[in-house]
Amino acid sequence: MKTENIAETIQINGKTLSCHHCGNTTFFTLKGRIVTIAKIKWGYEELKRPTTCYVCSVCNNINEFLDK
Ligand SMILES: [Zn+2]
Repeated sequence: MKTENIAETIQINGKTLSCHHCGNTTFFTLKGRIVTIAKIKWGYEELKRPTTCYVCSVCNNINEFLDK
């Protein structure tokens, strides 16, 4: 994972992202992957999908979005 050094205001689908815990509107950006286990016909398969995480610059709450 890579952390950007500068906290910035984030727009998601035209709306400014705000932390649902503290109401702050500046975030650090992280690139990550979400790993889910899917049940398939003969067992289980691990699925990895790229995500972007926005970490609140005040309280460190993480808002995670799947990449399109
Ligand atoms: Zn916060």
